[in-house]
Amino acid sequence: MATTEEIRERIAAFACELAAELGEVDDSDALSWLDALESQAIEIGDAMGVELLRRRSTNRPAAAEESTCPQCGQPARSQGQRERELIGRRGPVMITEPEYYCTCCRKAFFPGDPDDRS
Ligand SMILES: [Zn+2]
Repeated sequence: MATTEEIRERIAAFACELAAELGEVDDSDALSWLDALESQAIEIGDAMGVELLRRRSTNRPAAAEESTCPQCGQPARSQGQRERELIGRRGPVMITEPEYYCTCCRKAFFPGDPDDRS
């Protein structure tokens, strides 16, 4: 999804607030002042992404009571929502997702997890 104009405006307003609060950047370990600024901006962007993922995963609609086990194909019961840490494209993220338990395989799985699909 492309960033909508409204979201872009809100990001610009937030960036304006942050820029006023952050003050001078420490560039003693950086290649240059611009390199230090960019590193800080990337760090803030990544932190925003982590927070957005965590919140959006928590607000998902309720999961179905049953799901199909990716190992044996039998129906598996919902164990409710579980928070867990995954490695996203930009590093570790905490997400909340539905967990199921297969009594045949004696194993829990997450339907949204590509590692659980076989
Ligand atoms: Zn199974």
